[in-house]
Amino acid sequence: MNAPRKVAILGSTGSIGRSALEVLKSHRGTFELACISCHQQLDLFKKQCIEYRPKLAVVTDDSSLQTQQWLQGPNPSSILRAAGTDALIQAISGPDVDIVVAAIVGVAGLQSSLAAVENGKRLALANKESLVVAGQLLLATAKKSNAEIIPVDSEHCAIFQALQCDKRPTPDSVEKIILTASGGPLRDWPVEDLEKATIDDALTHPTWSMGRKITVDSATMMNKALEVVEAHWLFGLPAERIQVVIHPQSIIHSMVEYRDGSVIAQLSPPDMKLPIQYALTYPDRTPATAKRMDWNASQSLSWYPVDPDRYPALELGFEVARRGGTCGAVLNAANEAAVELFLQAKIRLTDIAKICRTVLQHHDFASSPSLEELLKQDRWARDEVMRWNKSLC
Ligand code: NAD
Ligand code: MG
Repeated sequence: MNAPRKVAILGSTGSIGRSALEVLKSHRGTFELACISCHQQLDLFKKQCIEYRPKLAVVTDDSSLQTQQWLQGPNPSSILRAAGTDALIQAISGPDVDIVVAAIVGVAGLQSSLAAVENGKRLALANKESLVVAGQLLLATAKKSNAEIIPVDSEHCAIFQALQCDKRPTPDSVEKIILTASGGPLRDWPVEDLEKATIDDALTHPTWSMGRKITVDSATMMNKALEVVEAHWLFGLPAERIQVVIHPQSIIHSMVEYRDGSVIAQLSPPDMKLPIQYALTYPDRTPATAKRMDWNASQSLSWYPVDPDRYPALELGFEVARRGGTCGAVLNAANEAAVELFLQAKIRLTDIAKICRTVLQHHDFASSPSLEELLKQDRWARDEVMRWNKSLC
C-alpha cells in the first residue's frame, strides 16, 4: 500500500477550504492533513483544528491581537501552530507537504501558489487569481520544477477531463473550448435595473454556494472573464478559441469541441467537492461524497449566448487573454478593489466593470513583466480605484 499523500489546505475556513476538508475526511488512508491555514475567522479555524487535527495550523494574519492570543492560548488538539505568511510558505515548501490546495481568495494566494510550484508540489488550484495575475510566471516555474498544476475551478476541471480524449494532441486538434456560465443571480433582471442591485441581490447565487468575492464576480460575470484568462494559460489556447455560453442549470461544467465537430462535456450536479477530489486523486478516480446525477428525475439542459450589454465585464477577460503582460495583474487588482467598494455599499454593481475598463486602459503596459513589476501594477491599480472612489465622494 502507498503511503498517504500529505495535503496542505490553504484557506481552510473558506467555501473551497471547507469542502476540501470534507473530501479528505472521506479519504482517510489515501491522504493525510499536513497543514491548514486561514487569515481571520479564528473561531471556525479552532474548531477545524480540533475536528481535523492537521499536523500544523497557520494563521497568516500575524498582526492581529486575536492571532497572538490564539498562538499563546490553550492548544486542546496539541498540534503545531504558527502565524504569518512566511511560516506558511516555509511549511508548504518543505518535505511534509506533497499537495497544496490553493483556496485563498484573491492575489493574496499568489505567493503560496508560486512557492508550491517552485518546490515541485502538486498544485490543486482553486485560486484562479494566481493564473490571471502571473500565468506566464507560474507556468514557467512549474515547468522548471516539474510541478503539476491541476485545476479545481469546475469549468477547468471539466476541460482538463475532456482533453483526456485527445490521445495524440496537435496544435489544431482542439477547435475551441466552451466555458459555461450560470449567468449569476441577476441573469433574468431587466438590464436597466442592474444598477439598482443591492449587496444581498448580488450575493444570492441560484446554483452555487461560494465565498462573497466570487459570488459578486459571478453577478458581474467578471468571474467568467477571469476564467477565460485562466483557461488561456492552463490549456494554451488563444482568446479566439475560447467561447462562453450561459447554461443556467450548472450541470454541464464546460466542453471541448474537437476539429471534427465532436463535443466532449463533463456533467455533474454543482458541487465543488468533485473537482477538488479529482485534483487530489488524479489520475485515479475514487468514490465520492459529492452529489450525483439522478437519472430517474426529469431534467432539461439549456444554453444561450451571452448578452454583452448585460455583462460588459466578460469582454475584459478576452482582452486580457489577447494582450497578456501586465493586463491580468491590473484587471484582477482593479476588480478586487472595486468588489470591496461594492460590498461596502460605496459603488453600484454596474460600476465595477466600468472602473476595471478605465484602469486597464490607462495602465502602463509591459509585455514580459517580472513578479515585482506585476505586484507594482497591482498596487497602482488598487490606488487608482481608490482615487476614482474619492473623486466621487
Ligand atoms: P472564501 O472567501 O470563502 O475563502 C477564502 C479563504 O482565504 C478563507 O479561508 C480566508 O481566511 C483566506 N484568506 C482571505 N484573505 C487572505 C489573505 N490575505 N491571506 C491568506 N488567506 C486569506 O473564498 P472561496 O469562495 O472559497 O474561494 C477561494 C478561491 O477559490 C478563490 O480564488 C475563488 O475564485 C476560487 N473558487 C471558488 C469556488 C467556490 O465554489 N467557492 C469555485 C471555483 C473557484
Ligand atoms: Mg468556475
